[in-house]
Amino acid sequence: MGAGFTGLVAALTLARGGASVIVVDTVEPGFGASGRNGGQVIPGLKDDPDTLDRVFGEATTAFAGGTADLVFSLIDELGIDCDPVRGGWIQASVKHLHLPRLESRMAQWRARGAAVEMLDPAGMAAATGGRGFVGGWIDRRGGSVHPLAYARGLARAALQAGAEIFRDAEAVSIKRGNGGWVLGFASGARLTADQVVIATNGYTGRLWPGLKATVIPANSIQVATAPLPDDLRARILPGRPVVSDSRRIANYFRIGPEGRLMMGGRGAFREPRDAADYRRIEAALASFYPEAARLPMGFRWAGRVAMTRDHLPHIHQPSAGVTMALGYNGRGVALASAMGRAIGAHLLDGANPLPLALSAIKPMPVHGLHPLYATAMIEAYRVRDMLER
Ligand SMILES: Cc1cc2nc3c(=O)[nH]c(=O)nc-3n(C[C@H](O)[C@H](O)[C@H](O)COP(=O)(O)OP(=O)(O)OC[C@H]3O[C@@H](n4cnc5c(N)ncnc54)[C@H](O)[C@@H]3O)c2cc1C
Repeated sequence: MGAGFTGLVAALTLARGGASVIVVDTVEPGFGASGRNGGQVIPGLKDDPDTLDRVFGEATTAFAGGTADLVFSLIDELGIDCDPVRGGWIQASVKHLHLPRLESRMAQWRARGAAVEMLDPAGMAAATGGRGFVGGWIDRRGGSVHPLAYARGLARAALQAGAEIFRDAEAVSIKRGNGGWVLGFASGARLTADQVVIATNGYTGRLWPGLKATVIPANSIQVATAPLPDDLRARILPGRPVVSDSRRIANYFRIGPEGRLMMGGRGAFREPRDAADYRRIEAALASFYPEAARLPMGFRWAGRVAMTRDHLPHIHQPSAGVTMALGYNGRGVALASAMGRAIGAHLLDGANPLPLALSAIKPMPVHGLHPLYATAMIEAYRVRDMLER
């Protein structure tokens, strides 16, 4: 349930393995974050590899390090037409204070054989064509895709492998029946399945008790300028990497379709109403790229991501035959694809391990007040970001 990267890659894996698979989505494949994200394919999890090794084990670190490889190999293998570019991911810093942390992260991945390197201020200026970066590191495993085209390509591949996909199909109830789990739909239709995968991330509703309250659905907002003129296109991100900055409340950017400069970041908890709700990321764009900021803005849009308390995704299996994966904390193009793959493989054969230990569903206390406390937390992070040098 949920036709984003998690659900679609799980469905594809299961259908290819011979299972009989039905995917349902409230709207259509790619409607959620998967069809409207920034298209940055970034390997890794929030924790650094040494921590992952210590807390979860080396298999989880290897899984995290391989997520971007999986996306590009799926695109290759399935022939998905979605503008894949493997220009690397740069984590850029405007704060000297952050550099030792970035250097340590880079060294930990390098020790595990990843193609990574530090960039000094001159290297950053050359790689980004932007202002104000004091350093950063590049991870050449990363890159970009056109997210909606990637999601639709996965849906097409799942169909070809034998899965069925139903759009306009919101599951509104789930109950144990005689022949398996019975899903009820808003239309009155019913469906029975041995195994149900709930892959609804930031769009999770009240279907399964407590699940919605395990994540904070935050708006991620995104803008894209009018196409850049040739001179700026040659100067800005010439190697076509994707970039995030290292602040707690990060901005991320890349050159997108038609040579537009795209920038994304955290939005308010309510849905954006007008251009004023995008002012903060447009100010960030102007600070890094003042010339590009003089162009008219071509597009502004938003979507929902799922934040968790520990900034890590979670897999739950609260009952035999029901698996859920969510909580990508705004970075799920590579991770959600890889989680979908791992869950599909595990359901086909329990000997295939899941990449993270199963966790219990733990609703956050006073979850209904999340717009208040999460806004306060984000503002506190912004202040800390501002105070750091
Ligand atoms: C604006 C924006 C920019 C982002 N940029 C990046 C980026 O550059 N790089 C990156 O790695 N990540 C990025 N992300 C995050 C990334 O897009 C998500 O982590 C990822 O797409 C999550 O995939 P998913 O399949 O788990 O969920 P989603 O793609 O959100 O899919 C969930 C689906 O579940 C469906 N659904 C919900 N409830 C039901 C129900 N009851 N019945 C049926 N269907 C249901 C919804 O309709 C939806 O289609 C961004 C997100 C946003 C919003």
